[in-house]
Amino acid sequence: MENLIIADLHLHSKYSRAVSQRMDLTEIGYWSTRKGIDLVATADWTHPLWFKELQTKLQEVEPGLYRLKKNQPQISRELRYVLSTEVSNIYSQQGAVHRVHTLILSPNLQTSAKVNQALRQRGVNLNSDGRPIMGLSLIELSQLLWDIDEQIFVLPAHIWTPWFSLFGSKSGFDSISQGYGRFASKITAIETGLSSDPIMNWSVPELNTRQIVSFSDAHSGQKLGREATVFKIKKGENYNYNDLISCLRHDNQGNLSLAFTIEFFPEEGKYHYSGHRHCQVRLTPAEVKKNHGLCPKCHKPVTIGVMDRVQELSQKLLEESNLPIKLSKTNTKLIYPPQNNRPPFVSIIPLMELIALQLKTNSLSKKVMAKYHELVDNLGTEFQILLFQDLEKLQALAETELAQIIAKMRKRQIRLEPGYDGVFGKIEIDEALNPQDHQPITQKTLFNA
Ligand SMILES: [Zn+2]
Ligand SMILES: [Zn+2]
Repeated sequence: MENLIIADLHLHSKYSRAVSQRMDLTEIGYWSTRKGIDLVATADWTHPLWFKELQTKLQEVEPGLYRLKKNQPQISRELRYVLSTEVSNIYSQQGAVHRVHTLILSPNLQTSAKVNQALRQRGVNLNSDGRPIMGLSLIELSQLLWDIDEQIFVLPAHIWTPWFSLFGSKSGFDSISQGYGRFASKITAIETGLSSDPIMNWSVPELNTRQIVSFSDAHSGQKLGREATVFKIKKGENYNYNDLISCLRHDNQGNLSLAFTIEFFPEEGKYHYSGHRHCQVRLTPAEVKKNHGLCPKCHKPVTIGVMDRVQELSQKLLEESNLPIKLSKTNTKLIYPPQNNRPPFVSIIPLMELIALQLKTNSLSKKVMAKYHELVDNLGTEFQILLFQDLEKLQALAETELAQIIAKMRKRQIRLEPGYDGVFGKIEIDEALNPQDHQPITQKTLFNA
């Protein structure tokens, strides 16, 4: 574990709309440590009040990586913050209106200050929201950022969601080149978002050469790490911002490599399938075709979900059952792409949701929270419990049932009712399947490293 860095680079502060008012640096630090995150986004560095907080409370420890200053309540010795923010570009291009969210990683506070200044000069109101809206095109934004600093990293966010993304059915483009023009070759990584997983993204030819990463987009501490990207330190213990973006650029120069991503089951995401929330109609891609994109109840066009869009932009959809699989020594299924030439992924269900399944109650109830904290206090971090730990440790705490649920999650023995048009999917642990039915394959995997 020492050489693995679990990173969550997409989240929001209390200055973004619809975010918990508790989301400050201490809260982000507290939950990162509970979850087992080593590298976390500051989020929202374009917001003037939040930026002031970052300037006063953060101290650079490695180039481009920060920690809370010593006079701040200390959460973890190891946690590092990196300057990552999200912006929303709304503009028309060739007669169509586009709305696209982009993550921007900055190498230091000075560069961030210059970007904020340049955006203000272009008339962008940075005060209104931690995720500022601007009329610039993606090409203009890229030009502005890279004129300031070549080390800024531009990462299209949750690229499949219908309303605000690069490939979104309602607002996006059909290719990276359409959106980024001459800068397309500098877009070397994409964020999958909750409603898609790497299998879906591996199916799209334009993404063949791009790194696929996943982050939580958390609006509260509890949601941190619901998706994450795991990097491996190649040598020693140190890494810096340049190592991070070098890895995201795929140039193999830095001290980090991409080990695997930690994913939501995409069916749980709220735009996996197409449909109409108000009519309670959910449609598979085949049903969308049969109904000519219309809702069978109200006969208006349905909201086209992520699965449909992936089918549109891929030549052939890959299927999980045809892909190479390895089991870690803790019996977690890692899924690999067909040629085994890209990082694999694992899928998780957040621990609070698993406890809620066990206790048959709401995942944010007091009972669930109490048990969550008790388990993390006793066993380490949430990621330890979900992925890396021997389940005997849970059984030793008389948590046999929860241990069984986690064992099934690790092997993907779950049933899902896919989400659609803003409705989250539902999860059931598959009672019919017994984890003991499967023999672990003792093969060296990343987890054993
Ligand atoms: Zn977004
Ligand atoms: Zn309808």
